[in-house]
Amino acid sequence: MSIAENLLSIKNTLAEQLTLVAVSKTKPIPDLMEAYDAGQRIFGENKIQEMTEKWEQMPKDIQWHMIGHVQTNKVKFMAEFVSLIHGVDSFKLLNEINKQALKNNRIIDCLLQMHIAEEETKFGLDEDELHAILASPEFAEMKNIRITGLMGMATFTENQDQIKKEFLYLKSIFDKLQSHHSENCQFSTLSMGMSGDYKLAIECGSTMIRIGSSIFGGR
Ligand SMILES: *Cc1c(COP(=O)(O)O)cnc(C)c1O
Repeated sequence: MSIAENLLSIKNTLAEQLTLVAVSKTKPIPDLMEAYDAGQRIFGENKIQEMTEKWEQMPKDIQWHMIGHVQTNKVKFMAEFVSLIHGVDSFKLLNEINKQALKNNRIIDCLLQMHIAEEETKFGLDEDELHAILASPEFAEMKNIRITGLMGMATFTENQDQIKKEFLYLKSIFDKLQSHHSENCQFSTLSMGMSGDYKLAIECGSTMIRIGSSIFGGR
């Protein structure tokens, strides 16, 4: 099947409220344009330089999501245009995003990445770290970021029960945050699910899925 066919066959199964991020990392612009011409406007990239090059060359109504781990010193390269940063997992990074957003006279939407997988290597906050950030007076002063939800990645395993357990854990944290009210926070997005596990993620309450290989093919 073509990229457009892959995209539309996935889209057709999704409820209207569900947001599909087409993960286009490593793929050339003509591939992205095929998805664009089929109606896709949200693309996810994991390297800032690659995302910036694509942003420069592609139509300006695209929303660019940074889904990878972000180094603090690179935030400035995407601050002008990035639409959502999924992988925010430290106060230091949040502070830098706020600073660069202010320089660009805008508010940048961010998701806090939670550590839900078994693997040590996956990035993300634990619940204590999450609450420490949300409770800090410095965070309350950050006027140029807006936390719009949470993101997480399940363990890379065939074990569906384990993946489900991790997704439900993330959903339970998300649900508890519904009562959290502050000016720069509003937990409406739950970014979980990739090509291999998005159906399970949706069953577990995902509102935003990040799909790469099922649309664009293997990398
Ligand atoms: C690459 C990537 C995806 C997409 O993975 P696929 O298995 O190709 O769908 C989703 N989320 C993150 C954070 C990624 O790095």
